Amino acid sequence: MKQKVIGHEQIKNIIKPEFIYIPLTDINNQNYKSVVKEGDYVSKNSIIGTNKDKSFNIYSPISGYVRKNIYKTISSGEVVECLTIENDFKEKYLRRSKTTPSYSENKFIKKLSKYGISSNFNDLPKYNPPKIKHLLVNTISFEPFVTCSEVLINNFCEEILWTIDYICEVLNISKAIIALGDDKRNLYTNISNHIGTYPNISIRKIKEERPIALEIKLINKIFGVRYKNSPLEKGIITTDISILYAIFEMLKYDKPLTEKIITITNPIIKESYNIKVKIGTSVSEIIDKLNLYRKLKKPMLIMDGLFKGKSVSTDDVIITSDINSVTLIENHYQKRLPCINCGKCIKVCPVFILPALIIKNKDNINRVQKLEIDKCIGCGLCSYICPSKIEVREILMSIREKVKEK
Ligand code: SF4
Ligand code: SF4
Repeated sequence: MKQKVIGHEQIKNIIKPEFIYIPLTDINNQNYKSVVKEGDYVSKNSIIGTNKDKSFNIYSPISGYVRKNIYKTISSGEVVECLTIENDFKEKYLRRSKTTPSYSENKFIKKLSKYGISSNFNDLPKYNPPKIKHLLVNTISFEPFVTCSEVLINNFCEEILWTIDYICEVLNISKAIIALGDDKRNLYTNISNHIGTYPNISIRKIKEERPIALEIKLINKIFGVRYKNSPLEKGIITTDISILYAIFEMLKYDKPLTEKIITITNPIIKESYNIKVKIGTSVSEIIDKLNLYRKLKKPMLIMDGLFKGKSVSTDDVIITSDINSVTLIENHYQKRLPCINCGKCIKVCPVFILPALIIKNKDNINRVQKLEIDKCIGCGLCSYICPSKIEVREILMSIREKVKEK
């Protein structure tokens, strides 16, 4: 599915949204309480909400006035209440420290949550894992068109390597491995040119096949181990480039997560852009500014990748911190058809479970447990392959939730 696209090599910084919408519920159903009220003036990067135990904050990406809360769609397709900030375009921000502090492991992890950076590092206290021996930086994407990680490394290679080194020191990790697709020659050269001063970081070229980007397979290939729920069980912690860049900005500029680099693509016109966008921006504004609806009669948005992502029926969906890409496609999806028992979802499943059979037994919790629904890693390959356009992954996710609640 490779194609020559234009506009993707650089980071465009084009978006100055008039309004920002920050959800008070995230895709993991975590709720936030607003700490501001209608009419308040807020500075850029100031705290505007926090979770129940005040361990995880949300921030304003702009300066401006708090307006009445309104409801907007998020990447899961749900419509949730959002804090609304009207931009005064002054970008007034709270002065913050610019020196890089040295943290203990605990303080570092707490700071990530406080600064709105959700990552596998936040799971360390929950899992209480054995000593972490390896940090795996996964740059491999099996999503076609999504190049934001690549562009981030090419533009901020030294910064990314510095951050990896910093994390290894704080968490006392002896080795970091950057997993790179073997066709990414420019990236390899770029990283190799900077890596000399970091003897604890190495590059591992991986033959890119679609399922290899799945963490479970990648870890098996590199370390020869299999895990049940998390790589932490095997002393491995994984991260991606966008998280590393957010950590770099936190460490270097004391900046919370209020902006992201995302890839937005219209494959029909072969245009793809990596843009720096404020979290809370409505996708419709981005599409309008880039004039990306061209040649699409009935557009549909896929949030966060063709395989793993979710289609949403409106472009009034907002950018949240979990989103790395938006793809615009022609909406050929008509009505969902019944399952034709073709078995394609079973053949494609990388963890060897039986999605179609699980769906058939969805009301029998014991049976779906026996069918090992807990092994599903949510890759979305089953939904992608299904000729009946059944949202297999979504259905499995909701069954899994029911099983957990039992
Ligand atoms: S999302 Fe589908 S293909 Fe992926 S692991 Fe789960 S059942 Fe298997
Ligand atoms: S791929 Fe779709 S149609 Fe085929 S067995 Fe799976 S759910 Fe049924």
